[in-house]
Amino acid sequence: MRVRQISFTGVGRVAVTEAEVREDPGDGEVLIAVSHVGICGSDLAVLGGHHPWTRPPVVTGHEVSGHVLATGPGAHRLQPGDRVVLNPLRACGSCARCRQGAVNQCESAAVRGYRLPGAAMTRLVVPERELHRVPPQVPAELACCAEPLAAAWHAAGRASQLDEVAVIGAGSIGLLLLAALRRRGAGPITVIEPDRGKRELARARGAGQAAAPGGLPPEPRFTAVFDCVCKPATLDWAGRAASAGGTVVAVGVPSGPVVIPLPRMQRYEVGLLGSGLYPPGDLDTGISLIAAQAVDVAGLISGIYPLDRVAEAYARAGQADSVKVLVAMP
Ligand SMILES: [Zn+2]
Ligand SMILES: [Zn+2]
Repeated sequence: MRVRQISFTGVGRVAVTEAEVREDPGDGEVLIAVSHVGICGSDLAVLGGHHPWTRPPVVTGHEVSGHVLATGPGAHRLQPGDRVVLNPLRACGSCARCRQGAVNQCESAAVRGYRLPGAAMTRLVVPERELHRVPPQVPAELACCAEPLAAAWHAAGRASQLDEVAVIGAGSIGLLLLAALRRRGAGPITVIEPDRGKRELARARGAGQAAAPGGLPPEPRFTAVFDCVCKPATLDWAGRAASAGGTVVAVGVPSGPVVIPLPRMQRYEVGLLGSGLYPPGDLDTGISLIAAQAVDVAGLISGIYPLDRVAEAYARAGQADSVKVLVAMP
């Protein structure tokens, strides 16, 4: 069958293209109707040509919700009609990290929309094991936010001392991280964000304070600093603002190597950790938190655009005051 998909056809160019998809799912596979696709900062990095390793042309989409249309032989867990969220990571399953459950650290893994074609397609055939069931009461547009929430939940767990926390960037990951940190019992959380509306959103969602870059008193100290931006200036600030023995967590996607204030970090034993995707259990946690209304994701949605207005959707997602933009698939 012919399906429509969202393609980055060149740097800065997004278009709806067509592809052929098998109608009958094979062994262990499931055919789904995609209902919503979330636009992520890392998608915008690909579209803008500054992602570290993925360049257009590529089919985009890794934050995807929908429902099951048909199941193939050997797919027994899901039923037609079930609402689902896609896990965009495909790991090898056999390396040392995979065997220990840290599948997001698999060096052979590929992610949809990056090293694998994306999932922003009106219909999609996927292995059943890559789908997570969502309770029927969760609206599909909220279900699709379980994917970034899983990433934020995982990132929040990367630092062990959460006595006094800073989060750089109040986009969707920063604001979901704020929620995840509060759920994990973090102490006062300071958010650093240039956009005034997003700072207000951060305060309304429980940040102890929200400041513009450069707006904090000199030499602040945090036991954990989460950098959701990972530009040279933010990582430099993070390395200087972490307390002795504290941790910097790089959550955002950097566009290339950056210099860190290593002399201070070496002397005062400041750790630097990455956070990239998450093991599948965190996606179930994200779904549960949304289903229980324990994390407000509706309040993060800046706009939902139909597929026919896809260019507008990506333009909106790139604006400074935008948090989470979704595309509703027909
Ligand atoms: Zn994402
Ligand atoms: Zn592996």
